[in-house]
Amino acid sequence: MSTPAFTRLLRILDLEERQSWRNRSVIGGMRAMAARWSEDAANEGVDPGRLARAVALMQAFDAASPDERPAVSSKLRELLADDWQPPAAPEDSPAHEPLVRESGSQAGVAEKDTIDELPLEIPLGEEQAQMRSARQADTSPADTTAAAAAEQTRQAVPARAEVFPGLGKVYEATPDDDYGAPPPNPAERPRRPSSSAKRSAKDLQSSITVLPGIGEATAEQFARLGIHTVLDLIWHIPARYDDYSQMRTIDKLEPGEQATVIANLWEVRERKISMKRTIVQGILSDSTGNLRAIWYNKWVTKQLKPNTTMRFSGKIDLFRGQKTIDNPVFEELDDERVVTGRLSPVYHLTEGLSNNRLRNLLHDVLDDYVGFIEDPLPAQVRSTYDLMELPAALYQAHFPDSNEQLTAARRSLAFAELFYVQLGVLQRRRSLQEIAAPPLYAGDEQLAQYTSVLPFAMTGAQERVTGEIMRDLARSVPMTRLVQGDVGSGKTAVAAAGMWVAALNGLQSAMLAPTQILAEQHHRGVSRLMGQLARPDGQPVSVALLTGRVSGEAREQVLAGLADGSVDVVVGTTALIQEAVEFARLGLAIVDEQHRFGVEQRGVLRSKAEGQPHLLVMSATPIPRSLALTVYGDLDISAIDEMPPGRTPIKTKLFAQPDRQRLYGFIRREVEAGRQAYVVYPLVEESEVLDAGAATAEHKRLQEEIFPDLRVALLHGRMTGAEKDAVMSAFAAGDYQVLVSTTVIEVGIDVPNATVMLVEDADRFGLAQLHQLRGRVGRGQHPGYCALITKSSSVATRERLLLLTDEEHGRDGFWIAQKDLELRGPGEFLGTRQSGLPGLKVAQLSDLPTLQQAREAAQMLFEQDAELAGFPQLAHQVERFWRGHGDVN
Ligand code: ADP
Ligand code: MG
Repeated sequence: MSTPAFTRLLRILDLEERQSWRNRSVIGGMRAMAARWSEDAANEGVDPGRLARAVALMQAFDAASPDERPAVSSKLRELLADDWQPPAAPEDSPAHEPLVRESGSQAGVAEKDTIDELPLEIPLGEEQAQMRSARQADTSPADTTAAAAAEQTRQAVPARAEVFPGLGKVYEATPDDDYGAPPPNPAERPRRPSSSAKRSAKDLQSSITVLPGIGEATAEQFARLGIHTVLDLIWHIPARYDDYSQMRTIDKLEPGEQATVIANLWEVRERKISMKRTIVQGILSDSTGNLRAIWYNKWVTKQLKPNTTMRFSGKIDLFRGQKTIDNPVFEELDDERVVTGRLSPVYHLTEGLSNNRLRNLLHDVLDDYVGFIEDPLPAQVRSTYDLMELPAALYQAHFPDSNEQLTAARRSLAFAELFYVQLGVLQRRRSLQEIAAPPLYAGDEQLAQYTSVLPFAMTGAQERVTGEIMRDLARSVPMTRLVQGDVGSGKTAVAAAGMWVAALNGLQSAMLAPTQILAEQHHRGVSRLMGQLARPDGQPVSVALLTGRVSGEAREQVLAGLADGSVDVVVGTTALIQEAVEFARLGLAIVDEQHRFGVEQRGVLRSKAEGQPHLLVMSATPIPRSLALTVYGDLDISAIDEMPPGRTPIKTKLFAQPDRQRLYGFIRREVEAGRQAYVVYPLVEESEVLDAGAATAEHKRLQEEIFPDLRVALLHGRMTGAEKDAVMSAFAAGDYQVLVSTTVIEVGIDVPNATVMLVEDADRFGLAQLHQLRGRVGRGQHPGYCALITKSSSVATRERLLLLTDEEHGRDGFWIAQKDLELRGPGEFLGTRQSGLPGLKVAQLSDLPTLQQAREAAQMLFEQDAELAGFPQLAHQVERFWRGHGDVN
């Protein structure tokens, strides 16, 4: 007698044979299938004795190792064959081949282990336990106990347990698993490595070519992902996860719903339904039933591989009382074991590497290696902040048991990264402050002298920050302070106060600026102030300029003045940090627009002092607090969060393409009123040449077609420093009315007469960058206007840009920066020059809570043991994390 249930089982055995007996052709394996199958078979009228034998064999199949399975399969085939006869009484039966061949097994047990001789009343679990003990007769007692424990847990799994993701977690043993291992409690994952004898911690550093199936060619593909070693691979954390919790078993599908199933595709058949139309039919099946899939286009046939496990999503329908899934989208899952969790990892890929491949590889690699990864985090930190141990966190980050586990795992990994960053930052701060700096004092009277020469009254914020700087300077611990403030908030006046105090104390100060124009501008402003102030010896405070343009005799003079101490203050570009420049006694180093400088450049300036100078860095890019803590954690931060009075706020508006002509009209009117305008183009290409080309073409168009009667200048990144300076100076002098530019004007000059800025393709800029850009207009007495043009019709894009026009916060650089960080991530703030931040794999810099905890933890530990002497592994980890990243300030 052959029933549909029999046919189904036989097909699975065929499939198993083709797939090397991995017990993977059914979701959850043969054991899962048995539960449901037996019901179907019983309904089809299969003899109960025969049925029970079949179930026992299916269970045995599941428990057996791949090379044992063919034998079980033959037994099953015999049992399912049409000519099957109930076995004769045991005493008459010929000696059966033992089902499980075990070289060292004791004869008695092996004999008993013959499946047909097992009394069928034996509960399945127990029967398996007997088989197991036979197989493991030569293993240690401890293992046997573990096996028994495993069995108990397996028995605890109800036979009808749902084996589908999200529908109750059932741990499914697979041939690769060590049978001794009990089903893992999620919290206790990972399991101990399955073949510990073969691996050691050292292997983590081995090339991935040690892994099965990875040769040189594949290794090269992995290298493109930055994966070289086994450890790199383990740290290839998923980019996202597919949520399989919506998955259903076929029996639970309801007509009319949209559903996803993991099922085996049995067969694919094309059917011509009319002269013109062919449909494709497939039969899908899981352990709970069958489902017919229908596609209406022939091309899917090529992509559908019969006898594979795939994931199908589509709408469930009824056709002649049978459930169908309509035109489902599908994806191959060649190892369902890996996706039986609720969440399935999705990785960053590179050509030639599929997600399935990575997923399967990682599944095996984690099993084998992750247990050898030691957690450098002190246990005390882990328990205080409720963190998962590293191996478990890594395991869960790849193959989460639940959303909760995933969140906990990723938080733990992120915490650790930020903790290392913070420790590194604290170490750096300590090394900066190890060497004493000369304390620089100034009394109230002397400060009053300074403010009296300022052409304006300081804002409250300027006063506060000046006070903070004074306090720092008066200490012998070197100041390491960052002053943040929007463009135009008046940072220069605050920095100059520091210069004055240094001069009062007989020490020199140096201010590093990113461009010649800025250096010259600062030099003019600072000279004006200092010219009205006298040193204690009655001499005026002397100010010098040192840029690439200062050469010959003039340069020699400056160098001599710096070396003999007759120059008190020098403002300059990177010409300042050349070797020839020597200071008699540098006491204060100031870096303006610090993000424009490389780590080394800032270091060189500091090294020009005999001991350690006080350090003041300034930035006009308002950096969100979370980011500042991380990147500038070794600095104290002051914010000038108030604008000088009387500034007319810039009016910002978002425009669409058709508005451009009107905007040109507006520019013309402003120019006619005597004002100037900027037209800014983003970096369209990641190539300065192409970029310059685009700006050049636009310049030509604007000059020739739009403003033929006006003088239109061009500024782009391919021009030399001298060319740029010449154009900027000419624009500042009013020789041009319109300046067409790429973003090179971002850090630039004060042209108070410029009132309009038109930003093309504004959506390509970050908000913080746009905010900085528009700070170039409205710097004089006339109101400033910023027109943002976008071609994008995306609501999200428009909403993002509209933040800049927000009535309440749209002018607050810190608010904008925070929004930008949330929307676009930290890349914007960490430009190419900001090489200071080590690569974070999991941590999000916008994740303020974790960042603060990590910082707190790092500070606590640092207070206990700044050298990390008691935590050598941690010290090593911090060192490794920061290697090649220099100091961050
Ligand atoms: P930042 O470097 O922060 O962008 P600056 O120091 O260049 O800003 O100052 C911008 C302009 O504002 C300068 O012209 C400066 O003289 C002026 N300024 C600075 N502080 C004040 C103030 N408290 N009141 C009025 N004007 C000020
Ligand atoms: Mg400035």
